Amino acid sequence: MAYTPVKNEIFHVHTWRCGHAGYETEEEYVRKAIKLGASRIAFTDHAPFPNNPFGYRMDIEELPGYLETINGLKEAFSGKIEVLCGLEVEWLPSYSKHIEALRATDGIDLLIIGQHMFETDTCQYSFEDTDKIMEFEGLFRAMTEGAKTGLFDVIAHPDRAYRRRRNFGEAEREAARVLIETAMANSVILEKNYASMTQKYLYWQEFWDMVPPSADTNFGADAHSVAAMEEAWRFSFSQ
Ligand SMILES: [Zn+2]
Ligand SMILES: [Zn+2]
Repeated sequence: MAYTPVKNEIFHVHTWRCGHAGYETEEEYVRKAIKLGASRIAFTDHAPFPNNPFGYRMDIEELPGYLETINGLKEAFSGKIEVLCGLEVEWLPSYSKHIEALRATDGIDLLIIGQHMFETDTCQYSFEDTDKIMEFEGLFRAMTEGAKTGLFDVIAHPDRAYRRRRNFGEAEREAARVLIETAMANSVILEKNYASMTQKYLYWQEFWDMVPPSADTNFGADAHSVAAMEEAWRFSFSQ
Protein backbone atom coordinates (compact mmCIF):
# COMPACT_ATOMS: atom_id res chain seq x y z
CA MET A 1 0.00 0.00 0.00
CA ALA A 2 1.26 3.40 -0.89
CA TYR A 3 2.00 5.81 1.91
CA THR A 4 0.02 9.06 1.91
CA PRO A 5 0.71 11.86 4.39
CA VAL A 6 -2.16 12.93 6.64
CA LYS A 7 -2.85 16.06 8.65
CA ASN A 8 -1.27 16.32 12.10
CA GLU A 9 1.16 13.54 11.38
CA ILE A 10 4.47 13.03 13.14
CA PHE A 11 6.69 11.62 10.43
CA HIS A 12 10.20 10.15 10.64
CA VAL A 13 10.88 8.97 14.18
CA HIS A 14 13.85 6.87 15.28
CA THR A 15 14.23 4.50 18.22
CA TRP A 16 16.97 3.47 20.67
CA ARG A 17 17.93 0.63 18.33
CA CYS A 18 19.94 2.82 15.95
CA GLY A 19 22.50 3.51 18.68
CA HIS A 20 22.47 7.31 18.28
CA ALA A 21 19.04 8.09 19.72
CA GLY A 22 17.68 8.55 23.22
CA TYR A 23 16.87 5.46 25.24
CA GLU A 24 13.16 6.15 25.64
CA THR A 25 10.81 3.32 24.74
CA GLU A 26 8.77 3.36 21.55
CA GLU A 27 5.66 3.56 23.71
CA GLU A 28 6.87 6.83 25.23
CA TYR A 29 7.04 8.35 21.73
CA VAL A 30 3.51 7.15 21.00
CA ARG A 31 2.09 8.43 24.29
CA LYS A 32 3.70 11.84 23.74
CA ALA A 33 2.40 11.96 20.15
CA ILE A 34 -1.14 11.35 21.45
CA LYS A 35 -0.69 14.05 24.08
CA LEU A 36 0.43 16.51 21.38
CA GLY A 37 -2.70 15.74 19.37
CA ALA A 38 -1.10 13.87 16.47
CA SER A 39 -3.29 11.70 14.28
CA ARG A 40 -0.42 9.45 13.24
CA ILE A 41 3.15 8.64 14.16
CA ALA A 42 5.41 7.06 11.54
CA PHE A 43 8.51 5.29 12.85
CA THR A 44 11.29 5.02 10.27
CA ASP A 45 14.35 3.73 12.06
CA HIS A 46 17.60 3.11 10.15
CA ALA A 47 17.32 -0.19 8.29
CA PRO A 48 19.84 -2.96 8.93
CA PHE A 49 21.69 -4.88 6.21
CA PRO A 50 22.68 -8.57 6.21
CA ASN A 51 25.82 -9.27 8.27
CA ASN A 52 25.71 -5.71 9.69
CA PRO A 53 28.32 -4.10 7.41
CA PHE A 54 27.39 -0.49 8.36
CA GLY A 55 27.12 1.44 11.63
CA TYR A 56 24.52 3.89 12.97
CA ARG A 57 21.64 1.43 12.74
CA MET A 58 20.03 -1.60 14.36
CA ASP A 59 21.59 -5.00 13.77
CA ILE A 60 19.80 -7.29 11.35
CA GLU A 61 19.06 -9.57 14.32
CA GLU A 62 17.07 -6.73 15.90
CA LEU A 63 14.71 -6.25 12.97
CA PRO A 64 12.07 -8.80 14.10
CA GLY A 65 11.91 -7.13 17.53
CA TYR A 66 11.48 -3.70 15.92
CA LEU A 67 8.63 -4.92 13.73
CA GLU A 68 6.99 -6.72 16.63
CA THR A 69 7.23 -3.71 18.95
CA ILE A 70 5.93 -1.10 16.50
CA ASN A 71 3.18 -3.35 15.17
CA GLY A 72 2.23 -4.20 18.76
CA LEU A 73 1.84 -0.48 19.48
CA LYS A 74 -0.26 -0.17 16.33
CA GLU A 75 -2.71 -2.63 17.88
CA ALA A 76 -2.47 -1.34 21.43
CA PHE A 77 -3.22 2.28 20.49
CA SER A 78 -5.68 1.59 17.69
CA GLY A 79 -8.47 4.17 17.80
CA LYS A 80 -6.25 6.68 19.64
CA ILE A 81 -3.51 7.20 17.07
CA GLU A 82 -2.37 5.51 13.88
CA VAL A 83 1.10 3.99 14.16
CA LEU A 84 3.12 3.23 11.03
CA CYS A 85 6.18 1.01 10.91
CA GLY A 86 8.76 2.06 8.34
CA LEU A 87 12.47 1.98 7.68
CA GLU A 88 14.96 4.58 6.45
CA VAL A 89 17.27 2.96 3.89
CA GLU A 90 20.18 3.98 1.67
CA TRP A 91 19.68 2.92 -1.94
CA LEU A 92 22.63 0.57 -2.51
CA PRO A 93 22.35 -1.45 -5.75
CA SER A 94 24.31 -4.43 -4.37
CA TYR A 95 21.58 -4.80 -1.74
CA SER A 96 18.61 -4.46 -4.08
CA LYS A 97 17.34 -7.97 -3.23
CA HIS A 98 17.51 -7.21 0.48
CA ILE A 99 15.65 -3.92 0.04
CA GLU A 100 13.01 -5.64 -2.10
CA ALA A 101 12.59 -8.23 0.67
CA LEU A 102 12.17 -5.46 3.26
CA ARG A 103 9.51 -3.85 1.10
CA ALA A 104 7.64 -7.16 0.91
CA THR A 105 7.89 -7.90 4.63
CA ASP A 106 4.65 -8.13 6.59
CA GLY A 107 4.44 -5.31 9.10
CA ILE A 108 6.51 -2.83 7.10
CA ASP A 109 4.27 0.02 5.96
CA LEU A 110 6.76 2.25 4.18
CA LEU A 111 10.37 2.65 3.10
CA ILE A 112 12.06 6.01 2.90
CA ILE A 113 15.36 6.78 1.24
CA GLY A 114 17.91 8.28 3.63
CA GLN A 115 21.02 8.49 1.49
CA HIS A 116 23.82 9.02 4.00
CA MET A 117 26.39 7.34 1.71
CA PHE A 118 26.36 5.68 -1.70
CA GLU A 119 27.94 2.77 -3.52
CA THR A 120 30.94 4.01 -5.53
CA ASP A 121 31.70 0.62 -7.05
CA THR A 122 30.37 -2.88 -6.32
CA CYS A 123 30.37 -3.16 -2.53
CA GLN A 124 32.55 -0.04 -2.18
CA TYR A 125 31.13 2.96 -0.40
CA SER A 126 31.56 6.70 -0.40
CA PHE A 127 32.55 6.81 3.30
CA GLU A 128 35.84 5.21 2.19
CA ASP A 129 36.58 8.14 -0.16
CA THR A 130 39.31 10.49 1.02
CA ASP A 131 37.96 13.50 -0.86
CA LYS A 132 34.24 13.90 -0.24
CA ILE A 133 33.77 17.43 -1.54
CA MET A 134 31.74 16.27 -4.58
CA GLU A 135 29.83 13.54 -2.73
CA PHE A 136 26.53 15.29 -3.46
CA GLU A 137 26.72 14.12 -7.06
CA GLY A 138 26.89 10.45 -6.02
CA LEU A 139 24.28 10.92 -3.32
CA PHE A 140 21.89 12.56 -5.79
CA ARG A 141 22.56 9.84 -8.37
CA ALA A 142 21.73 7.17 -5.78
CA MET A 143 18.54 8.93 -4.62
CA THR A 144 17.46 9.38 -8.24
CA GLU A 145 18.08 5.68 -9.02
CA GLY A 146 16.28 4.70 -5.83
CA ALA A 147 13.27 6.83 -6.72
CA LYS A 148 12.92 4.89 -9.99
CA THR A 149 12.75 1.46 -8.30
CA GLY A 150 9.23 1.87 -6.94
CA LEU A 151 10.46 0.57 -3.57
CA PHE A 152 10.36 3.90 -1.74
CA ASP A 153 7.55 6.21 -0.67
CA VAL A 154 9.58 9.21 0.43
CA ILE A 155 13.05 10.69 0.01
CA ALA A 156 14.17 12.01 3.38
CA HIS A 157 16.27 15.17 3.51
CA PRO A 158 17.28 15.20 -0.20
CA ASP A 159 19.06 18.55 0.28
CA ARG A 160 21.27 17.16 3.06
CA ALA A 161 23.38 15.71 0.23
CA TYR A 162 24.86 19.22 -0.16
CA ARG A 163 26.28 19.14 3.37
CA ARG A 164 29.87 19.65 2.19
CA ARG A 165 28.97 22.43 -0.26
CA ARG A 166 29.12 26.10 0.62
CA ASN A 167 27.27 27.52 -2.34
CA PHE A 168 24.60 26.48 -4.78
CA GLY A 169 25.87 26.57 -8.35
CA GLU A 170 25.14 24.96 -11.72
CA ALA A 171 26.11 21.39 -10.68
CA GLU A 172 24.02 21.60 -7.52
CA ARG A 173 21.10 22.94 -9.53
CA GLU A 174 21.35 20.19 -12.17
CA ALA A 175 21.44 17.38 -9.57
CA ALA A 176 18.33 18.87 -7.94
CA ARG A 177 16.53 19.24 -11.26
CA VAL A 178 17.01 15.57 -12.18
CA LEU A 179 15.97 14.30 -8.74
CA ILE A 180 12.87 16.48 -8.46
CA GLU A 181 11.75 15.47 -11.96
CA THR A 182 12.30 11.77 -11.19
CA ALA A 183 10.55 11.94 -7.82
CA MET A 184 7.54 13.60 -9.42
CA ALA A 185 7.41 11.12 -12.30
CA ASN A 186 7.47 8.21 -9.82
CA SER A 187 5.15 9.72 -7.17
CA VAL A 188 7.87 9.80 -4.53
CA ILE A 189 7.43 12.41 -1.80
CA LEU A 190 10.26 14.85 -0.98
CA GLU A 191 10.74 15.37 2.74
CA LYS A 192 11.57 18.72 4.33
CA ASN A 193 13.57 17.60 7.32
CA TYR A 194 13.35 19.39 10.63
CA ALA A 195 16.62 17.96 12.00
CA SER A 196 18.37 19.38 8.92
CA MET A 197 16.95 22.83 9.63
CA THR A 198 18.58 22.90 13.04
CA GLN A 199 22.12 22.53 11.65
CA LYS A 200 24.27 24.51 9.29
CA TYR A 201 24.58 23.42 5.63
CA LEU A 202 22.04 20.57 5.87
CA TYR A 203 18.92 22.47 4.78
CA TRP A 204 19.10 24.27 1.42
CA GLN A 205 16.34 26.72 0.57
CA GLU A 206 17.79 26.93 -2.97
CA PHE A 207 16.76 23.28 -3.44
CA TRP A 208 13.23 23.79 -2.13
CA ASP A 209 12.78 26.89 -4.31
CA MET A 210 13.20 24.58 -7.30
CA VAL A 211 10.42 22.19 -6.20
CA PRO A 212 7.19 23.12 -8.00
CA PRO A 213 3.96 23.36 -5.97
CA SER A 214 2.59 20.34 -7.82
CA ALA A 215 5.29 18.08 -6.32
CA ASP A 216 4.43 16.02 -3.24
CA THR A 217 6.34 17.11 -0.16
CA ASN A 218 6.00 16.38 3.53
CA PHE A 219 7.56 17.44 6.81
CA GLY A 220 9.73 14.99 8.70
CA ALA A 221 10.82 15.38 12.31
CA ASP A 222 13.77 12.99 12.02
CA ALA A 223 13.49 12.76 15.80
CA HIS A 224 16.06 10.81 17.77
CA SER A 225 14.40 11.58 21.12
CA VAL A 226 10.94 12.33 22.48
CA ALA A 227 12.01 15.92 23.17
CA ALA A 228 13.22 16.38 19.58
CA MET A 229 9.92 14.98 18.34
CA GLU A 230 8.00 17.52 20.39
CA GLU A 231 10.28 20.34 19.19
CA ALA A 232 9.64 19.40 15.54
CA TRP A 233 5.89 19.23 16.17
CA ARG A 234 5.84 22.70 17.72
CA PHE A 235 7.99 24.09 14.92
CA SER A 236 5.64 22.75 12.24
CA PHE A 237 2.78 24.73 13.79
CA SER A 238 4.82 27.90 14.14
CA GLN A 239 5.20 28.11 10.35
ZN1 LIG B 1 19.72 8.67 12.78
ZN1 LIG C 1 16.31 9.71 9.94
